[in-house]
Amino acid sequence: MIDRKPFDSETYVETIQSSPCFICQLVADNSANPHHIIYENDEAIVFLNKYPVLYGYSLVAPKAHKEQVTGDFSQEEYLRLQALIYAVAEATRRYVQPERVYILSLGSQQGNRHVHWHVAPLPAGLPFDEQQLNALRFSNGVLDLSEAACQALTAGLRHELNQLGFC
Ligand SMILES: [Zn+2]
Repeated sequence: MIDRKPFDSETYVETIQSSPCFICQLVADNSANPHHIIYENDEAIVFLNKYPVLYGYSLVAPKAHKEQVTGDFSQEEYLRLQALIYAVAEATRRYVQPERVYILSLGSQQGNRHVHWHVAPLPAGLPFDEQQLNALRFSNGVLDLSEAACQALTAGLRHELNQLGFC
């Protein structure tokens, strides 16, 4: 069982609405606001969610700053990205062995504009009323993962992705 720590939603909202795009920043230079990068290629990047409400929660984003979940992609670009998301979900399923994997794209034109997909594994055995959207709420707090735990998770997911032919 991993401990949770409270999540300061007010500061988070203030930060995302007043800072430059964190995904563009991460793609350009991962040292200012470091993230654990699981995989990247010319078009896309996969990294651990910095504020994980669930264990094994990663984000997949195009490297280019795109905002509309479908409208800023050709169908071919979109499907190529979905193939990566499929692989990330499969890697997550193999490594974390969740009950299900949730995949969703959220974001807003008022903050977190750079489109990205959440790959969020639902742990096995949660009561029904703690699943689905309730499992994703920041009001539950976020997992208190150590640096070592994040590195191990990154390595584990990367290993599974490699097994699936992404390296
Ligand atoms: Zn961006």
